[in-house]
Amino acid sequence: MTGDPSRPLAPATRLVGSGRPPRSPGASVSPELAMTSTYVAGGDVNYARVGNPTWSAFETTLAALEGDDSTRALAFASGMGAISATLSLLPHGGTVLAPRHFYNGTSGLLETWVASGRARLVRIDLSDTSAVERALPDGVDVVWIESPANPTLETCDVAALTRCAHAAGALVVEDNTFNTPLGRRPLDDGVDVVVHSVTKYLAGHSDVLLGAAVTNDSSLAERLLTARTLGGAIPGPSETWLALRGMRTLHLRWERACANAAALAARLEQHPNVVRVRYPGTGAMIAVEVDGGQSAASAVEDAVDVWLPATSLGGVESMLERRRRHALEPESVPENLLRLSVGVEDVDDLWRDLDAALTGSSA
Ligand SMILES: *Cc1c(COP(=O)(O)O)cnc(C)c1O
Repeated sequence: MTGDPSRPLAPATRLVGSGRPPRSPGASVSPELAMTSTYVAGGDVNYARVGNPTWSAFETTLAALEGDDSTRALAFASGMGAISATLSLLPHGGTVLAPRHFYNGTSGLLETWVASGRARLVRIDLSDTSAVERALPDGVDVVWIESPANPTLETCDVAALTRCAHAAGALVVEDNTFNTPLGRRPLDDGVDVVVHSVTKYLAGHSDVLLGAAVTNDSSLAERLLTARTLGGAIPGPSETWLALRGMRTLHLRWERACANAAALAARLEQHPNVVRVRYPGTGAMIAVEVDGGQSAASAVEDAVDVWLPATSLGGVESMLERRRRHALEPESVPENLLRLSVGVEDVDDLWRDLDAALTGSSA
């Protein structure tokens, strides 16, 4: 689905209409769920570790959202599958410049590479663009960005960082999971590779794990495709089909989740048992620091009824968790920090439940 090139289709229209089978009388309107391990010889793709029509339908739709006609998206078995493949672009012993806080799976993977001598990791406050500029000439290969960062929600000036990084010859990767392409399109800021945990907002229903890497650079796309084909972290066709089916309503879910989050963030600012609210002003993630430390934060997790006490985010259902319960989370993440993933329920029900749990937490 391309529409009139002089007037590009809006994201909502692309979400609904991209990646559908060619229109012909009797054709199905929904993409096929291609359950096959191989193909009759003589076609473009000869084995299903290399390609699958269900992946293509999903990938076409995601590429149309993150970029334009030259954009390539590749689906992976999970967000970490996409992240591992992207980090495999790093030369052996290469240096990654990363934020002080970022997804603990990505930092955990990099730490294992540091321990085995495969990579160097330099953590820096990415919101300080001039500090990054000073660190770059030191032989940085990849700048890894999360803005907002998981779970502390710090943001940075991605366009400025990307300009500095490119001037120093570094590749820029952004994990765009928290924004979705509706919130921000990193490729427009010059970012080289965008990665997603599709598990979260894109699929949106907490029923599937999937990942993706997206780029405008055809040689990077080929290297990522090789990493996927030979690394073998390929998605299942059923998971990919479910993710695309979920993605069809991303704009509706995102709009409601963001509106709910804005309303809840404002109310949380006034709550006597909340000492700090971190909310970047957009998106549907909030982090709060609860008065009374770790035990008070844990008491909120135990007390909620509408909210689910669970890890993960981006589903229709609201979830919260105390991040420091994970051993991988660094000590600079406060013990009393709760990460809130705001879903699409009625906002007053969400507020009453959260308010009651917070009020009870100090008892
Ligand atoms: C969940 C998450 C990941 C990992 O994705 P999986 O699909 O669980 O492998 C990566 N980055 C961010 C920001 C996440 O929230």
